[in-house]
Amino acid sequence: MFDPIQFKSNFPLFFQKENQSLVYLDNAATTQKPQCVIDAVTDFYITKNANANRASHRLARSATNLLEGVRQKSADFLGARYKDEIVFTAGATESLNFLAQGLSHQLNKGDEILLSVYEHHANLVPWQVIAKETGAKLVFISGDFESVGNQLTSKTRIVSCTAASNVFGKISDVDFFKNVKDKFPGVFFIIDASQVIGKIPVNVKDNFCDFLVCSPHKFYGPTGIGLLYGRKDCLSRLRVSKFGGEMIKNVDLLDSSYVEPPYSFEAGTSPLASIAGLGACIDFVERQYKKGMLEYEKKLINYVHEKLSVLVSDFPEVNLLTSPRNNIGIAAISSDKYSMADIGFWLDEQDVAVRVGDHCAQPLLKSLNLTAVLRVSVAPYNTFEDIDVLFSCLCDFFNSNSECLDVALATDKKVSNYKDELSAINYHDLLTIRSWGNRYKKILSLGKLVNKKPFLHNNESLVSGCEAKLWINTIVDKSQNGTVFTFVIDSDSMVVKGLAALILCRVNAKSATQIKSIDFDAYFSELGLEKYLSESRFSGMQALLKHIFLTIK
Ligand code: PLP
Repeated sequence: MFDPIQFKSNFPLFFQKENQSLVYLDNAATTQKPQCVIDAVTDFYITKNANANRASHRLARSATNLLEGVRQKSADFLGARYKDEIVFTAGATESLNFLAQGLSHQLNKGDEILLSVYEHHANLVPWQVIAKETGAKLVFISGDFESVGNQLTSKTRIVSCTAASNVFGKISDVDFFKNVKDKFPGVFFIIDASQVIGKIPVNVKDNFCDFLVCSPHKFYGPTGIGLLYGRKDCLSRLRVSKFGGEMIKNVDLLDSSYVEPPYSFEAGTSPLASIAGLGACIDFVERQYKKGMLEYEKKLINYVHEKLSVLVSDFPEVNLLTSPRNNIGIAAISSDKYSMADIGFWLDEQDVAVRVGDHCAQPLLKSLNLTAVLRVSVAPYNTFEDIDVLFSCLCDFFNSNSECLDVALATDKKVSNYKDELSAINYHDLLTIRSWGNRYKKILSLGKLVNKKPFLHNNESLVSGCEAKLWINTIVDKSQNGTVFTFVIDSDSMVVKGLAALILCRVNAKSATQIKSIDFDAYFSELGLEKYLSESRFSGMQALLKHIFLTIK
């Protein structure tokens, strides 16, 4: 039997004092690391640190042995026939960039690259760049993966698809690739397996792909290391796109020759400590009772869906976007009425970690008319109690923040008509509220004073450095008494609107000299923001201040 509590005991992060109430449900972004992986990374620096492939001394030899040992282990783990079919990269993103760059010389004008709308930006943007350079065309699988066979044409050169959506968790049936692959021998089949490795059994020997990429940090390994599997004959057709030391056979002043794959793709010093961690991570995964672990994860994701189904029936403004069937461990909700960013902030205040946003899959969200999705992603160290905590925090949010519904929809596109929007705010009111919880609610209600202004939603108005989206426009009034500034804002988060309103009620309709004389540090500490607000929300406020000071300079 798989024992989640025993499994969790491998992960020291959960047992640190500051994390004891943490409910970590952002596993599709990255998983926590078991002690054995942390030890392997540390041990490398303590006992083995040297550069590999420079075998003139003992430590260098042992670093080289480590590198090649983990390469073999990775090959066995993925089912590769030869260890030289494994390239160490920085992650799935770098692997996919290598593939797009490395296959570009195989493409001519009018050739087709077949992708799906489910792709992470990492498996879309590199192909867009290559398509523009070569005149190749991006074509998207319409419908499910079952139909992939009908969509390959004589022009298809590359098929590159995710094995599971990082937004909706839906697993693509790669067997369809296997059937089609034999019929199209000239086509390169690439699988982005970032969300499935370490969860469901994948064996490249089953011949469903020519290349496969993944990021070990998503299955308990360290960051900074990625795996690119390429079948031997395919890897040798991949052009090298990163150059430098370590991948060289001979260099003259005007030309160079390179060693064979995989080493030709590993320019520069390899991330050896991360590779040591990867070795320990593969051992760790292999030691687990995988069938039981998978069954447990299925039960967990079923339970998440059960709870979320209750939530959406109680709060019909919320939509459940996923189903537990054929799901890698992800549930997602959205709403037209509530700000997903606010729900994420609310959960964060209670130490429940989920991810909110576009999940690096903007085209997918746009195809569904969504701008943000709240994603819950489980791992086998999560418990049913974790899901209960999530559910209860979500219910609290919807019960106590129904005022978060966006009230006004501005139709007037003239920014100057919103000049007085915040003039009624008196920040002293906030100081009379004793408890931080009530102050937080008051901040949310201040957000309500800020009208929705869709016409501001463009890149020029966007303030960078904020967690949620914050758009700003400046009105400069010049008179014989001098120049005064008024800032008009909008955000996809009610909390951010409220916090921004607290800054703007101090600076609006003031001159540069007056604004510069305000002691914002004292102001923030008087409001208790620095003490109580989470770091990222606070740095969002600093980003707004920076923007204001740059504008009035
Ligand atoms: N592909 C998918 C499906 C992903 O989920 C991710 C990360 O979330 C990536 C690619 C990129 O992985 P990395 O950021 O580790 O390079």
